[in-house]
Amino acid sequence: MIVLSGIQPTGRFHWGNYFGAIRQYVELQNQADAAYYFIANLHALTTVEDAELLRRYTLDAATDLLALGINPDRATLFVQSDVPEVTQLCWLLMTRTPMGLLERCHAYKDKKAKGLPADAGLFTYPVLMAADILAYDADTVPVGEDQVQHIEVCRDLAGSFNHLYGEVFVLPKAKIMEHAAKVPGTDGEKMSKSYNNTIGVFDEPASVRKAVMRIKTDSRPVSEPKDPESDPLYQLYSLFVDEKRREEMAALYRRGGFGYGEVKKALADAAVEYFAEAYEYRKELEKTPRKVREILEDGAAMARKRAGEVLHRAQAACGIRY
Ligand code: ATP
Ligand code: MG
Repeated sequence: MIVLSGIQPTGRFHWGNYFGAIRQYVELQNQADAAYYFIANLHALTTVEDAELLRRYTLDAATDLLALGINPDRATLFVQSDVPEVTQLCWLLMTRTPMGLLERCHAYKDKKAKGLPADAGLFTYPVLMAADILAYDADTVPVGEDQVQHIEVCRDLAGSFNHLYGEVFVLPKAKIMEHAAKVPGTDGEKMSKSYNNTIGVFDEPASVRKAVMRIKTDSRPVSEPKDPESDPLYQLYSLFVDEKRREEMAALYRRGGFGYGEVKKALADAAVEYFAEAYEYRKELEKTPRKVREILEDGAAMARKRAGEVLHRAQAACGIRY
């Protein structure tokens, strides 16, 4: 099993990113024969226009991932742009990509439907993503529900390249991540940077508490029994505690006679405790930014080795090497 996943440095990571993606990365690095995790700064370029901010988000993302348990001895952690082989591979794939296929992709389609201007970067995003995956012979790609379509595009492109030139690429499979697309934000909608409803994994404990207190709740009286499963507060609480505490809280909901304030306090306590170790570890890593850079450099060297082989294979197959 060769696992690959990328995450965009478009802001600091929030609870949705952790439970929807990063936690699974940490689990998978221990099960896979090889795990490649990259910070997708080339993809982020289509949304982050401030160069200094992009630099900062990129290093922050690396530091955050290490603090949260990505282990450089088990996984190859690198920055997307440090592997230029991927963009070369992207061009080869581009020549095999029908326009209609990209026109159907939802990131572009959604933007166009809203009447927003789209650029070629957004339009061809699925091709770069295909190159990201194929460059490492990855067979397992952990993704959220929203990315399944892009994995299908990747399989299509790889399949048609193979059909024309012989077996060059490994066809990957999407691995839908548990909890993906499920973590609710402070307004009850899906937690998402662009909805401004996030709580950051590395927010100061005091800010976490404040943000939790602001989570929207309904106005039903305290005495009324409530269904835990349909309540975003309970859904969030469940993420941070074990089965026993989850059941205790669920029982409290069904019985009624308690206030949302109590749940919020329990949620904030549980969240702060859950991330306490990572929070401390991150403080340590902040003191040694050189170490983080070295990890990224080593990761890029490893990634380039693999991507170089795959690129060579693809170039030879299509007549670019002469
Ligand atoms: P944007 O608002 O720009 O879409 P985002 O905050 O939704 O940003 P993404 O970059 O879209 O973050 O997602 C990064 C990863 O985190 C993806 O794997 C995505 O599926 C996962 N993820 C994001 N938000 C959630 C959420 N609320 N619940 C579960 N998983 C999530
Ligand atoms: Mg999103």
